[in-house]
Amino acid sequence: MPDLPDWPRTLVIVAHPDDESFGLGAVLSTLAARGSRVSVLCFTRGEASTLHGVAGDLSVIRRDELRRAADELGLDGVRLLTYPDGSLAEQPVDALITDARDHAAETAPAGLVTFDPSGITGHPDHTAATRIAVALGRELGLGVLGWTLPRAVADHLRAELGIGFLGHDAGEIDLVVDVDRQAQRRAIACHASQAVPGKPAVAPAGATGRSGTPALAAPARVHAAGRLTGPAAGSLRARPGVPIAPGRRNTAVTGTTMAVTGGA
Ligand SMILES: [Zn+2]
Repeated sequence: MPDLPDWPRTLVIVAHPDDESFGLGAVLSTLAARGSRVSVLCFTRGEASTLHGVAGDLSVIRRDELRRAADELGLDGVRLLTYPDGSLAEQPVDALITDARDHAAETAPAGLVTFDPSGITGHPDHTAATRIAVALGRELGLGVLGWTLPRAVADHLRAELGIGFLGHDAGEIDLVVDVDRQAQRRAIACHASQAVPGKPAVAPAGATGRSGTPALAAPARVHAAGRLTGPAAGSLRARPGVPIAPGRRNTAVTGTTMAVTGGA
């Protein structure tokens, strides 16, 4: 059975502080625990979030939250850029690619990790970050893993929360791996400004315990601009340097397929 790639160095490309934890946390901590030096490039400071659970300047608070979360996940480093939260998709692609390329030159990754092309929630910042990761992977000849949601999990979350989660059938998910979520939960706890006090959105029991479907034991939380990620939900889509066909969302052209299930 395929497993996570054995990358000595991994570059993670995301749009917002907390994307590395809510979505990717368990995958990143697993890579780190296996010896990969994992660095995160985050394009925005998340300053446009509608959630403001901690008083103060969100761009500063969320920077610090990201750093603490990265420590909890065992990551090697974080680079936080200052593109405007909420309009990443409107920024010049050349500038985004240049920043990503520069960071890759410093960190020398053997592969990339990002959200899948749906952006998980369809948030345009997420899809923009993924487009950059895929373009960089293509340019550098590196594999790109895109984390995604199984369709059943996405359907539950969408029905429960009214947010546009996009999932995929098992046959569309290339890679599933077992993960330990302890570090991810500690990392999520670092993002206090994005918590929704007293209103955790817990996924229905039917989403748990299915073979190949991540458990949804931990609360999911709504965050900026209606974005939401389930901390215990997710799987990985492997996309080794393969460009995404125009108009075909999440089309795996070539590459390995793995599967990820969530631990308690
Ligand atoms: Zn996000």
